[in-house]
This record gives sequence, C-alpha cells and structure tokens, in this order.
Amino acid sequence: MKRTHHCNELRPTQIGQTVTLDGWVHSRRDLGGLLFIDVRDREGRTQTVFDPSTLSAEVFAQAAALRSECVIRVTGTVRQRPAGTNNPRIATGEIEVAVQALEVLNLAAVLPFQIDDPEAAARVAEDTRLQYRYLDLRRPEMAQHLRLRSKVAGATRHFLDEQGFLEVETPLLFKSTPEGAREFLVPNRREPGTFYALPQSPQQFKQILMVAGVERYYQLARCFRDEDQRADRQLEFTQIDLEMSFIEREDIYALVEGLLQRVWKSALDMEVPTPFKRISFEEALNRYGSDKPDTRFGLELADFTETFRGSAFKVFSAAITNGGVVKALNAKGLAGATQGQIETMTEYAKSLGAKGLAFIKVENGEWKSPIVKFFNATEKAALTAQLGIQEGDLILFAADQWLNACEILGKIRLYCAEILKAQGKLTIDPKRFDFLWVVEFPLLGFDREQNRWYSSHHPFTAPVAEDVPLLHTDPKKVRGQHYDIVVNGIELGGGSIRIHQPKVQKTIFEDLLQIPPDETQLRFGYLLEAFQYGAPPHGGIALGFDRLCAILCGTSSIRDVIAFPKTAKGVCLTTQSPGPVSARQLRELHLEVKGKKPAAAALPAT
Ligand code: ASP
Repeated sequence: MKRTHHCNELRPTQIGQTVTLDGWVHSRRDLGGLLFIDVRDREGRTQTVFDPSTLSAEVFAQAAALRSECVIRVTGTVRQRPAGTNNPRIATGEIEVAVQALEVLNLAAVLPFQIDDPEAAARVAEDTRLQYRYLDLRRPEMAQHLRLRSKVAGATRHFLDEQGFLEVETPLLFKSTPEGAREFLVPNRREPGTFYALPQSPQQFKQILMVAGVERYYQLARCFRDEDQRADRQLEFTQIDLEMSFIEREDIYALVEGLLQRVWKSALDMEVPTPFKRISFEEALNRYGSDKPDTRFGLELADFTETFRGSAFKVFSAAITNGGVVKALNAKGLAGATQGQIETMTEYAKSLGAKGLAFIKVENGEWKSPIVKFFNATEKAALTAQLGIQEGDLILFAADQWLNACEILGKIRLYCAEILKAQGKLTIDPKRFDFLWVVEFPLLGFDREQNRWYSSHHPFTAPVAEDVPLLHTDPKKVRGQHYDIVVNGIELGGGSIRIHQPKVQKTIFEDLLQIPPDETQLRFGYLLEAFQYGAPPHGGIALGFDRLCAILCGTSSIRDVIAFPKTAKGVCLTTQSPGPVSARQLRELHLEVKGKKPAAAALPAT
C-alpha cells in the first residue's frame, strides 16, 4: 500500500475513505484501552487510533511498543472525531484515522531530547540541537524555517529572472581578495606554496561579468570569511549577489525595493510600501548614533557642542577644544535605571575609548548628578529645551570625537530601548518593518595607527562624481557611491556603483590606499586589464540571505535559518568538522603541521 495523503491533508470531506499515511510517531497516548498515535510528516500531523477490538493482538502490541520518532505506515479509514474531541490547533483536527494495518518502516532509538514540544525544545542546549540537527530540523518550527528559506530563494530567482538577470555561478576556488576579512586558504597540490582562497564575495567576478557583457548578473552566492565569530556571524554564509551595467544608484534602489516587496509578499503576505526612506550616513549617526539605525522608536541624539563650548565643565569644553563634540540622549522615564544598568552603559562607553559616562537622573524635581554643579543656567536651559527634560528622565552624555560620541550614544540608545521594552514602556509591533537606505558614506576612512587611508566599503566603490577633485586635496570629504539597506536596525546588505575607469581604479589602489604598484599588479592586474577593454559603467549590491530569512522568520539568530550552521568556534557539531587529515594527504599538499602534533598523525595513511 503506497502513501495516499500527507499528514496535513485529510479533512471531513474524506470521511469514509481508506487512506495510507507515512510518517514519524509524533506522540502517543493510551486512553480507555485505545491507543492514539499522531503521525507526523513534513506537512503536518494526523491522529490515528488503534482499537484492540478491531485489530489483531499482534498489530496492537506492535503499535503499543512504538517509541517516539519510529517511522511507520498506517492504513485505515478516515472518520469524524467523537464530539468534543476536535483539536482546533491542527488542520486535521476534525478527523482521525481508524487504523486497519500498520507497517513499521524503521525503529528509533531513545531520543537525546524531546522534539514534540516546542517549550521543551527551547530548553535544550543549542549544542545538543546542533549535534542532532536532523532531529532538530524535524521540529515543525525548524522545518518551517527551511521552507520559508526555500520560498524566499524561489521568489528571489523568479523576480530577478523577470527583471532580465542571468544566474551565473562564479568559482569557489579563487585567490586572495582585498575585502578585509581573513580568508580560508586551500593549498594547491600542483604547485607547492600556492593557494586558492575561498571567496569573501564574488565581487571581482561579477565586475568581470559586466565587462563580459552579461549586463545583469545574480547568484545566491556562498561566501567565506574566516573571522573570529562575533555574535551571529557564520564562517560561510549566503548572499543574494547582483550586478548591473548602464545603471545609476536609483536603479539599484528601485530594483531592491521591488525584490524585497516580492519577498515580503511571498513569505509573509505583507505589502511593503515603497520607495524606502533614505538617510545620509552623517544624519544617521547624528540622530541615531549608528549607520544602521533602528527608526522604529525615538530616543534621538541631540548635539550640544555649541552649548558647552567654553563651559566650566572641563570634560565637555576640553573635548570640544580637541575638535570633538558633546552629544546627549534623553532616555525618557529611565531615571530609575539600576546601578548595574548604568554600569553596563558605562562599559559600552569605555569599550569605545571614553573615560566614563556622564549622566543626569531627574528625580523628585531635582537633577541628580555629580556634574550638574558645573553647568550654568544657559546650559541647563538649553538641555531642558532641546531634550524636553521632565521628571523621571535619564540624560546621558558623550563628549568625544564626532564618530565616537555618536557611536557611544547609539549603543546606549539601543540598550535603553531594551530596558524600556522590558519595563513595558516601549512596544514595537513585531510586524513593523522600517526599511531604510543609508547613503553618502565617506569613500575613505583614515587609519591613525597605520597612517593611511582605507576604503570604507571596498576599493571598487566609485566616488560621487562631484567629489572626484577632492580625492587629491581632501580625501576625507569624498563621498562614495555606496548604499546600505537597513531594516529595523539590521544591515541587510550593501553595494555601490563601481569604478569602471582603469585609471581611477589605479589611483585609488596606489595613491590613496598606498598599495605598491607591483602588489596592485599581482592582486588586481587582471581586473585593471579587463577594464581596458571596454568596461561598461556598472554597480551592484549583495543582501545577506541568511539574515533576510532570519528577519522573515522572526528569529534573532541566523543559525536558526541555516540547515547546518557552525558554532561560534567554527565547528559543525553534526559532522564534527573540521577534522584531522592523514599524513599522506598533508604530504601530497606539501604541507607540514608545526607546533601541536596534529591529530591527523593518528589517521592511517590511506
Ligand atoms: N561584495 C560586497 C559585499 O560582499 C557587496 C557589493 O558591493 O556588491 O559586501
């Protein structure tokens, strides 16, 4: 008997039919001599009933011995559930299948954790879930994530196909690229001492594809960055990577807005209004203290540099004399913040190089703070007016160089929002999505330690045309044609219009980034050469596909939307990789492991 229906399919219209279901034993209940087994497959579950008065003793005993997650095939008749026993929580909750035959397709050992109860699963250590990922992925919540991910990939492909894009695969065995992160190297057996590198992104290939006349390229591209994993990063991850020729920034904005509209519609059945808002890098930092601002709530930063210029409060006036700024934030209603909370904020400030964190608590009609005694009436009045200070407020300050001051308060702003949320003073609709383009980033940043410029995005980003003359006179002021797409304070992706003139690209590499000409030749010679044969103007973007799926699934961890993610230590617990290799493999690769004796030595030289 072959499977006739899946486990989320039967409804009262099928009552009386004989059906066969395949699936796993989800749960089992013995009630009044009857045995109820919920059979679950990918689609859902169906209640089956084993009645000892109609089944042979042998079949009944076999059913009674089934453990959770055994694999079975049952054949039986669909019938209405007895009055009052419907289960409105599941789609098949009005019917049940009265079993006539049972086939045990496979047995299951005692499970390392319970998977039929979401609350119990939530208490299981993540490492255990990752070790037994095949069990974890059977849980309906996780299975739903995989489905949604597949749906989003499908919607993306459809949309981009409709827009005339070609899906092109670019090599995974590449060479060292300049995008900043540490790379995974793959030794080349054929020529000792040479290595492939796994791509951090297909950036250079997609630009070469534009020179190749592809005009519109996309790929759901696997990228690799060997970074010590900060929260919620993966060593390998997926990007929706695309590139277009003969376009401007506006074309990319419109395309990505259309794509996200399609994705939100297909995944969440939600309409996303376009165009998205835009904010400059400078305004984002000034108002929200972040280049990926969460605009779903206020708590905006205000500037008091002019107020405190020459102030008797030396911490502020000295910062200003040193070219810095004074910024403040009114954490409304947070005067009751605990010592621990204030300490956490102070730690944030210190981790960004501040000496401490100045604050004022407004309690019982009084400004409580060791610094208030240094403020004059004008300064106090300016604070009150600009920050709308009222009883119960907590005012926090940062006095530092502009970027630092903004970033310190930006982090504190987010932390305050968390406290306010926990206290029920701030609620954010989980269905709210604030999309935002962040634009006009500086093209270059300056590394004081190394005393040289670095690319804020990557070295292929074109400067804003009118700022090009400043490249040689005032590089700091040059804006890049770079854009980031942000949603609810999360950076979803970024891209830029690229440099397509070999001369400008060479200037960036050699004059500004100070890469020696022979190194430029070695690393990028092929790209500069390609640009000499008619490179069209082009630009593109990459969106973090894992992050996108996590946002759509409403989970805060990208590990929840990756079938086999790695741990923070870079380990795949399901397969225990990375693992040792044999001495012979090392020999073939002309490699020798120094220092710690490799576990590999224990492997037979096969
Ligand atoms: N290659 C860039 C990245 O991975 C994205 C782009 O500029 O298109 O961030």
